[in-house]
Amino acid sequence: MRIDVLVLGGGAAGLWCLDRLRRAGYHAILLESKALGNGQTIQSQGIIHGGGKYALRGVRDFDAVRATSSMPERWRQSLVGAIEPDLAGTEIISTKCHLWLPRGSVIAWLQSLAFMSFVANAGLLATRPVKVSKAAWPEALRDSALAVYSLAEPVIATGSFLRALAARHKEFIFLYDGAALEFAADGVRVGDVLLQPRAMVLAAGAGNGELLGKAGMNADLMQSRPLAMVLLRGELPPLFGHCIVGGKTGLTITTPVPGIWQIGGEIAERLANEKNLAAARAAALVEIRRWLPRLDLARADIAIYRAVRAEARTAASRRPSGVHANQVAPGMVVAWPTKLSMAPVLADEVCEMLQLDLKTPGGYDETPPWPTPTVARNPWEEAEWFAVN
Ligand SMILES: Cc1cc2nc3c(=O)[nH]c(=O)nc-3n(C[C@H](O)[C@H](O)[C@H](O)COP(=O)(O)OP(=O)(O)OC[C@H]3O[C@@H](n4cnc5c(N)ncnc54)[C@H](O)[C@@H]3O)c2cc1C
Repeated sequence: MRIDVLVLGGGAAGLWCLDRLRRAGYHAILLESKALGNGQTIQSQGIIHGGGKYALRGVRDFDAVRATSSMPERWRQSLVGAIEPDLAGTEIISTKCHLWLPRGSVIAWLQSLAFMSFVANAGLLATRPVKVSKAAWPEALRDSALAVYSLAEPVIATGSFLRALAARHKEFIFLYDGAALEFAADGVRVGDVLLQPRAMVLAAGAGNGELLGKAGMNADLMQSRPLAMVLLRGELPPLFGHCIVGGKTGLTITTPVPGIWQIGGEIAERLANEKNLAAARAAALVEIRRWLPRLDLARADIAIYRAVRAEARTAASRRPSGVHANQVAPGMVVAWPTKLSMAPVLADEVCEMLQLDLKTPGGYDETPPWPTPTVARNPWEEAEWFAVN
């Protein structure tokens, strides 16, 4: 079966690469082994970062600030169908995020304020934080914040995004048996089917490690950073925001559907080290109550879900600054977007890289006999919930 490009993995990275390559005229197909976005994309908070959060951390992250600063505007255009890919079917659950400086943390306030204005003045931030007057603060922050800023970073429902992007190419996206995949001298074998791509994109998130190993490459190119994300369910007012503590995002809270909070940020990195889930839930509640002391959780439920950030390896396992697309063998590119928001940049890079080799699109004879994958389920639909009290 002749193909121009075989994309492995149907998360944000693989789907955006498929779209980019097909728009460039190539016969590209995508194989997904479980469900679209199963892993990071469906587990993510869907914030289209513009660098505002990175800017808090220090000068070493200026690269990340620069790389992400144009993303909110690029996505906004796609989300209204003004540019390709037309993602107008994606649900925008908030047009902005808030940054809030919690009461009881004056040092954090001074640090963050000074740093924010420095970065904004340096012209690095496309999405500058704007101070919000007290009357307009989100309900959840009314008695818990010292100051609130607004950042023009949209938040999307990741399931609807995966559906909208996949719908553009559904006849070229296949659910296959990933365990049966073998890299052979004459192509890629999956059981009886022989695929003969001119080029391949490994965009399987955490699955890239195994794929690299199977292809005889160095699986050590990937690093995994574990997270334990917190979910709250109850009478919770909508909140999309980062709690800034000491120049870091202590909590990042989003409201993917009414009455559910998804909580990440530094808390998720710390809780990842706690093996006991009951202890992790208790520690999460201490932290949430510390920064949102007025929040009434008497009738709320809590859950923890584990996630893994799969990225290109960096020195000392630090967060990579930007996207990573690396030609590991002739015609084989391994790709990690680092952030959902960076998937468009990754797809541009992968397409440019492959165009150097592929040049003109080739033809194709047939397509694989496999079904279309569904979109992965949201973490709050799969979580095991416990009463807070
Ligand atoms: C908890 C969490 C919150 C986050 N929040 C944000 C945020 O708010 N904003 C932001 O910009 N970024 C966020 N990120 C980062 C972002 O989600 C990821 O960078 C991005 O989704 C990665 O996309 P991906 O396609 O590379 O990987 P994934 O989304 O993990 O997709 C990989 C796909 O490959 C498939 N696969 C695996 N193995 C194989 C195989 N052998 N063959 C075929 N398919 C295979 C999987 O089933 C899956 O569908 C978050 C990440 C996490 C974990």
